[in-house]
Amino acid sequence: MDRNDPIAVPLQVLCYPEGRPSGVAAETGDRDGSAIQEAVDVAVQHAFNFSHGAAPASGAGRIIHWPWLLDTGTRLNFSVDDLFELIRRTGTAPDSIRQLILSHRHIDHFGLGAAVKARVGCEVVSSAVDGPFMADWQGMALGSRDLFRRSGTAFGIPDHLFQVNEEWAKGILMMAESVQSDRLVAEGDVVVAGGRNLKVIECPGHTEGLVTFFDEQTGVFLANDHVLQHITPNPDVYDYDPDHLRSGLPDYVDSLRKVRDLPVSVVLPGHGFEMTDLAARVDEVLFHHEQRADKVAGIVAEQPRNIFEVVNEVWPTLRERDAHLAVREIIGHMILLEREGRVARDWDGDVLVYRAV
Ligand SMILES: [Zn+2]
Repeated sequence: MDRNDPIAVPLQVLCYPEGRPSGVAAETGDRDGSAIQEAVDVAVQHAFNFSHGAAPASGAGRIIHWPWLLDTGTRLNFSVDDLFELIRRTGTAPDSIRQLILSHRHIDHFGLGAAVKARVGCEVVSSAVDGPFMADWQGMALGSRDLFRRSGTAFGIPDHLFQVNEEWAKGILMMAESVQSDRLVAEGDVVVAGGRNLKVIECPGHTEGLVTFFDEQTGVFLANDHVLQHITPNPDVYDYDPDHLRSGLPDYVDSLRKVRDLPVSVVLPGHGFEMTDLAARVDEVLFHHEQRADKVAGIVAEQPRNIFEVVNEVWPTLRERDAHLAVREIIGHMILLEREGRVARDWDGDVLVYRAV
């Protein structure tokens, strides 16, 4: 894709038109430049998603500009003003945005959604599964955190880690506002954005309601966090209740296979630069998960272990604040391995213990 094609410009490309990995200079006229520099830093460090398009569509003999925005970034060191300044750099007037499409329920994707909607009065489009979560973000996030905490004993998580997680959660809650969607979409729906037809492809796993968008005409695949170039997305745990444990990892693997052979010309991910070889990247991620599954199976084959013991074996130098992400991934692998008949679980008092079969 020509980077000048305005259909979708990832934030990183916008910040680094030459593809530079870091160190963009502040531009004259950016107030003192610090806000944009900070936004750029956030983009690099937190690598949030921001794509936008401003495609001219012809209608009744005239050109209609119909800009749209895909995801917004968080409120962390970033504001609607900063976001709009970045959009202005593309030559698009941010006030003319008609649609805001939100790919999934993560704060780095919808954090500023309510503020953008309030500023420009655009239609907000999201998935039927993640939309209601984003509409009651604080309530849903607190509920999920409380359930994680109540279930923590079953996973062998030491109490002090919940304190760390509590601090982290407080920060997270500040980084997004609830946002109401005007339209909820599902598999096969088409979102007409900037005169383009973006087909909705549901890709649950990273979150339960993550949706990707495919422009069949140009082959542009807006993958957000489903397929990333340098990292493997963390699969969500849909339900932490040990009796109804549900992880996104099995879905994630299915969703990868689902998009592997799409006839893409370019993949625009939510973080990092674009890719062209989707199948190769999907194969790499699938291979990574297979290797991780074998490692987990090997660990419980040595001796039965609980979830947190496995976490410590897989990541011996894990930062405490990342422990819950690691717990999520291991829960996912245990569910997959149980499904494949490679491990089984038993209760040892209040703790779930997994053993090789
Ligand atoms: Zn995400």
